[in-house]
Amino acid sequence: MGEFELIQRYFAPLALAARPAADGSGVLVGIGDDCAIQRLPANQDLALSVDTLVAGVHFPVDYCPRFLGWRALAVAVSDLAAMGAQPVCYTLALTLPAADKPWLRGFAAGLANASQQFGIVLAGGDTTRGPLTLSLQVHGTLPGGQALRRCGAREGDLVCVSGSLGDAGAALDYLNQTGLSADAASVLQRYHHPQPRLALGIALRSVASAAVDVSDGLYADLLHILQASGVGASINLSALPLSAALRRLKGEAAAGFALQSGDDYELCVTIPESRWAAASRELQQQLTVIGRVQKEPGLRLNAGAGMVPLQRPGFDHFAAGD
Ligand code: ADP
Ligand code: MG
Repeated sequence: MGEFELIQRYFAPLALAARPAADGSGVLVGIGDDCAIQRLPANQDLALSVDTLVAGVHFPVDYCPRFLGWRALAVAVSDLAAMGAQPVCYTLALTLPAADKPWLRGFAAGLANASQQFGIVLAGGDTTRGPLTLSLQVHGTLPGGQALRRCGAREGDLVCVSGSLGDAGAALDYLNQTGLSADAASVLQRYHHPQPRLALGIALRSVASAAVDVSDGLYADLLHILQASGVGASINLSALPLSAALRRLKGEAAAGFALQSGDDYELCVTIPESRWAAASRELQQQLTVIGRVQKEPGLRLNAGAGMVPLQRPGFDHFAAGD
């Protein structure tokens, strides 16, 4: 199977859903030309982000291709959620050791599911031979000037997170196991099928003062907001949202997973108290207040009985000593 046939068979079908919106914006030219063409709606900004996943670094070498298709797009789209952007289209740069048909079929199926779920279409890409590596560049739009930035947190704002944290990190223990308990299967599902908080990101545009998606762990990602905003925060460890499955699996250690393990793709945001009070009940129900922004830089963990020992603040590919 040649490169052309591979693209036509597995990836061109994913681009068929590309249809300009009623206002004429969207993907005007998709796969098959030298560039894809995207038209922006009037007065909208383009949010763009690229994420690379390397086999053996970001996912196990023999990882299920269907799960990989979902995960790769979910991880990339989560950055759009964090900025409050609406997904439009993406490109896929795929490096493959071989044109393995069952692998390609599974991967394309996972990608198709995720594309449909997140309302984003494939607009083009690049295909090369080499060690398995994927890069997905995602494009989203948002009303001019309304992007949720990391730099807007102010003293007194509430620190909030969506969903629950720590499940995906706890799942790493079970990746290669069979005969899993219901709890282990439940956290593993969070690893295989992350759900980027797209609708929540959009709803937070006019509410949050700063936002980040939790990819490297709450501690590390909240620090990004604090540093970009020139502030600090205190968080209450007993307020961290933990799933019942994580509590049962990890007991006392559950909060440590929520703080330090990545791959959850929830949102961490800061919200001025007055806007929180005025927010809809529906919005409030999607978030848990875990702390407050303070003037003094740094992140303080209020554990009630004492401090929780932290081994490292989050995953860093080039951390000293690695
Ligand atoms: P060029 O050599 O001009 O860069 P290519 O031969 O690499 O073009 O690609 C031909 C067309 O197929 C382009 O429109 C490109 O966007 C698309 N394409 C290539 N690889 C992929 C892929 N993995 N997924 C989606 N589209 C792809
Ligand atoms: Mg070309």
